[in-house]
Amino acid sequence: MSILNADLHCHSVVSDGTLTPEELAARAAANGVQLWALTDHDEIKGQQRAAAAAHAHGMKYLTGTEISVTFADETVHIIGLGFNPDDASMLQGLTETRGGRGARAMEMSEQLAKVGIKDAYEGALKYVGNPELISRTHFARFLVETGVCKETSEVFRKYLTEGKPGYVPHRWASLKAAVQWITQAGGMAVIAHPARYRFTANEEFALFSEFKAHGGQGVEVVTGSHTAAEYVRYAETAREFGLAASRGSDFHSPGESHVDLGQLPFLPGELTPVWEVLADRIQ
Ligand code: AMP
Ligand code: MN
Ligand code: MN
Ligand code: MN
Repeated sequence: MSILNADLHCHSVVSDGTLTPEELAARAAANGVQLWALTDHDEIKGQQRAAAAAHAHGMKYLTGTEISVTFADETVHIIGLGFNPDDASMLQGLTETRGGRGARAMEMSEQLAKVGIKDAYEGALKYVGNPELISRTHFARFLVETGVCKETSEVFRKYLTEGKPGYVPHRWASLKAAVQWITQAGGMAVIAHPARYRFTANEEFALFSEFKAHGGQGVEVVTGSHTAAEYVRYAETAREFGLAASRGSDFHSPGESHVDLGQLPFLPGELTPVWEVLADRIQ
C-alpha cells in the first residue's frame, strides 16, 4: 500500500499555481501518478475539472484543498482530502477564509510602495487566475517580472516574510474550525509540510496534540518541502501521534517548483498511508 505513486498536494490557476487542472492532470499522469489530489489554497472550485481530467488519464482521484490556519501566531496549512465538495459548512468556511485576501493584498501593495515598488497590486493581479484568491505568490511573480528579484524564493526572503517590507500579518481560520470543516464533510485533515513552521518543540507538540484532539488524522511525511532527514523525523512523529502519512509534491509551476508531480520517494513502509484510511473516498 505504501508503494503507490500518490501525489496529494499541488496547486492550479484556481489558487497560486500556473497550470490549469487539466494541464496538471496530464503532467501528473505523464510522471506516473496513480492517485492524485488537487489541493488549491482555501478553494475547491477546480475539483470537478480535476477529477474529470484525472479519470480521463486513468488516475484515481481524491478531493483536496489546503486551508490556511493561524496557530500560535504562525500560519499553518491543513490539507483536506476525500471530503464532500458540496458540503455547506466546508464551502462557507472556505469562503470566509478567502475573504480577507483582497484587503491584505492592497495593504501589501501599500507597504511595497513605501520601499519604492509601485503598483504591485495591479501587477500581482495580472497573475491571478481566481479573483478571490490573490496570494503572496502572485506578488512574487510580479517582482520577478519587473527585475526586483531573480526568482520567487528571493522575493519571499527579501520582501514577503515576517519582518520584511511587504509582509502583512493576517489571521486565518482556527485549527479547530479547519479540521472540523474537513472531517464533518467526510474527509481527512492532514498537517501540511510540518518542517516548514518555525515552532519550538513545545509549540510543535501542541500543534500535533490539538490537531489530534480536534479529529485530525494525517500528516505529510514525504513532501517537496522536506529534506530526507525530515522524512525520517516526521515518520517518527506520525507513529508517535498515531497519524496516517501523506505524500505530495506541492507542485506550483514548471519554472518555480523544484519537485515535479509524482517525483518523490515512496512513503516509508511501516506507516499507514492516508489512502488506506480513505479507501472508500477514492473516486
Ligand atoms: P499566502 O497564502 O498568500 O500567504 O501565500 C503562501 C504561498 O506562498 C505558499 O503556499 C507558497 O506557494 C508560497 N511561498 C511561501 N513561502 C515561500 C518561499 N519561501 N518561497 C517560495 N514560495 C513561497
Ligand atoms: Mn502556494
Ligand atoms: Mn503550504
Ligand atoms: Mn501547497
